Amino acid sequence: MNERSVRFGTLAANRNQRLKIQAVRGMQDLLPGQKQIFRTIEDTLREILASYGYEELGLPVIESTHLFSRLVGEATDIVEKEMYSFDDRSGESLTLRPEGTAGCVRMAQEHGLLFNQTQRFFYAGPMFRYERPQKGRYRQFEQIGVECFGMEGASIDAELLLMTHRMWQALGVEGEMSLELNSLGSGESRAAYREALVSYLSGMRDDLDEDSQRRLQTNPLRILDSKVPGTRALLADAPMLSDYLDEASREHFDELRRTLDRAQLPYRVNPYIVRGLDYYNRTVFEWVTGSLGAQGTVCGGGRYDGLVEQIGGRPTPGVGFAIGLDRLAMMLEPGFESSASADVYIASMGDPARHHALLLAENMRDRLTGARIVVHCAGGKLKSQLKKADVSGAKVALIIGEDEVTSGAVTVKRLDTGEQESVTETDLFARLSTILSKE
Ligand code: ATP
Ligand code: MG
Repeated sequence: MNERSVRFGTLAANRNQRLKIQAVRGMQDLLPGQKQIFRTIEDTLREILASYGYEELGLPVIESTHLFSRLVGEATDIVEKEMYSFDDRSGESLTLRPEGTAGCVRMAQEHGLLFNQTQRFFYAGPMFRYERPQKGRYRQFEQIGVECFGMEGASIDAELLLMTHRMWQALGVEGEMSLELNSLGSGESRAAYREALVSYLSGMRDDLDEDSQRRLQTNPLRILDSKVPGTRALLADAPMLSDYLDEASREHFDELRRTLDRAQLPYRVNPYIVRGLDYYNRTVFEWVTGSLGAQGTVCGGGRYDGLVEQIGGRPTPGVGFAIGLDRLAMMLEPGFESSASADVYIASMGDPARHHALLLAENMRDRLTGARIVVHCAGGKLKSQLKKADVSGAKVALIIGEDEVTSGAVTVKRLDTGEQESVTETDLFARLSTILSKE
């Protein structure tokens, strides 16, 4: 190949590549209608969090890789195979946060928000995990995370569960959600159980699925979580975590259950819930739905009393959960009506009229607070402008032509009835507020 054909080949390859650029696998594009669902969910949840006195934190999206390997645990799925880690230009290993608890604990400790205090925090934003993308499972996904510090008793665990239930009610999905609870006990009781489980499962190692065989060494409790039918069958006779609970953890769990019973919040104790991360102890829970197929866990959380110490702080009890907004959005999608983008649409004929429209719209936004005013800026015939006005969902179109600019009057067209009237600009605001306030 001569130099020219090499260069030509490179150019052609570049052009092809340019044509093919698409969203990165597992990263979702949210179109306006979908984004509105997320927004609605977030607004609803924020309102409820505020009503319980939770305060929002802004956590960085990037943290030191050590934070996750230390706090989430080397042998967890997240750290083993799901992190987006990279070296920055100075050679420091950084990671796009796969979850928020570790960063929240780091931040709270770094700013002295924990010692001798009780705190109720939340944060919202994207998390990143290198997983196999499928419905309800993406590589960038949205969470709202909630973390409480300094409260040891079961009443805060109960508050979190009552609060999540209130969230499902507000979103109209409470009928599709069920609560599964378990207690992991203390670190010591878990260690004793771990030993018993490993000794039981080692006897049937060859019958376990490949993942579980590996976990037998690295993270045996995760085997309880296995979805492989053969492994599940073997677990039926395995030792039960509940038989190993220490007395204090048992009391904590009983108290939580009594409170939930009194509040009439139904739940099921599921001894197989262990959660994926190392840091949990005592209470763990999941809110699950049958309406999303395999990706049925919408919210998961639990207690992590040892976590603050692990990052060098004084012993501080902690408990929290994370809600996956993408899965909630899937639940809401079928019945969701996206709202219109405009209340008033301004059509104009000719350049002077369009400039006039732009200034009139500014004036209107000062005086009609909250009204959504869209100026047609793309030119074209009046008929096609009014078609756009219809699509925008506006109630009213204003039509401004050359005559209107000189006369200081505007044509007001009701898009539902087709009625038209000429209104002076002096009367316009009063007229529009009357029309817009009528449903
Ligand atoms: P799963 O068992 O489904 O992998 P998880 O235990 O890894 O979930 P958590 O780390 O507890 O999930 O995160 C809390 C919530 O965040 C989950 O219940 C789920 O709703 C959501 N979530 C987790 N991973 C993803 C993902 N890859 N895509 C979309 N949502 C996710
Ligand atoms: Mg996972």
